[in-house]
Amino acid sequence: MVILFGTHPKFVEHDTGSLHPETPERLIAVKRGIQLSGVKEVIEDFIPEPATLEQMSRVHEPSYLAALERFCLMGGGTLDPDTSASMSSWEAATLAAGAGIGASAKIRAGEADAAFLAVRPPGHHAVSDRAMGFCLVNNIAVLAADLASRGERVLIYDFDAHHGNGSQEMFFESSSVLYVSAHEYPLYPGTGRAREVGRGEGKGYTVNLPFHADTTGPSYLEAFDRVVAPCVEDFDPTWTLISAGFDAHRKDPLTEMGLTSADFGNLTLWVKNLVPHAKIVAFLEGGYDFAALEQSTAATLAALAGESLKPEPNSYGPINFDMIKALEESRKRALSE
Ligand SMILES: [Zn+2]
Repeated sequence: MVILFGTHPKFVEHDTGSLHPETPERLIAVKRGIQLSGVKEVIEDFIPEPATLEQMSRVHEPSYLAALERFCLMGGGTLDPDTSASMSSWEAATLAAGAGIGASAKIRAGEADAAFLAVRPPGHHAVSDRAMGFCLVNNIAVLAADLASRGERVLIYDFDAHHGNGSQEMFFESSSVLYVSAHEYPLYPGTGRAREVGRGEGKGYTVNLPFHADTTGPSYLEAFDRVVAPCVEDFDPTWTLISAGFDAHRKDPLTEMGLTSADFGNLTLWVKNLVPHAKIVAFLEGGYDFAALEQSTAATLAALAGESLKPEPNSYGPINFDMIKALEESRKRALSE
């Protein structure tokens, strides 16, 4: 068993400015998670190469990529009210996008079993022609599109507390990528209602679980069993890509969700057990409390190795059956329209 832990010194040089929650120090906390994971012996360092323009252009407008590169090389600045870039951000963004490509190549070659990619900047809010929500290039989407172009069936499993609007939008009309997101709602960016189910050929291939604030692990797993499992089993993915944001942790300063660190291990084990043959690559997205980042990374790494780590107790119920039933019905209505 080999689990790649991918990171790069350039990720720390992506400077978001003072008072921004998406700091380079987040990666130090994430790296500490290796020691805590209990599976250190199967973890292997992986240094990514940058993604090519061709690889990134599968999901981004070439004109946006060119403008982003120019903007960064001229010193950077503010891209939207939440998102900024510095001189090094272009290089960091291309390395973050390339991490998935490189890790998946090693897994395909049989040199590794799974990968956890501790990248900055994060990716799941970036849309085809615009940076958004701390994200410049949509890292997970770049890999999903690369794998889909090879004929693979790709599950994107996004448990970041924010809806991955960029990832959803890029594959909204595609039946080769199944996008699943559990997130707090209402919350930034405002998308991710249960009735958003995909369009055209992609209808049914987007699954949104908009959860109330304070939702805990048992409700996540109940909703996954009832709503997500049938879709994933039908789709039968060959790859599972995880948007591993840890901001649904109850200590996170940006959101109001109720997960513990151990729950992130459970969510990872849930999908690993559901489709055991699918190869897994996890990408760091959000997560802004350092202790939560360290412990949640540890739990996720342990789960990737098939172990269950309990740095703190799993969160307890009660399961919000009314919430789950309501989103299930809203999804069914949208599918029958
Ligand atoms: Zn987030």
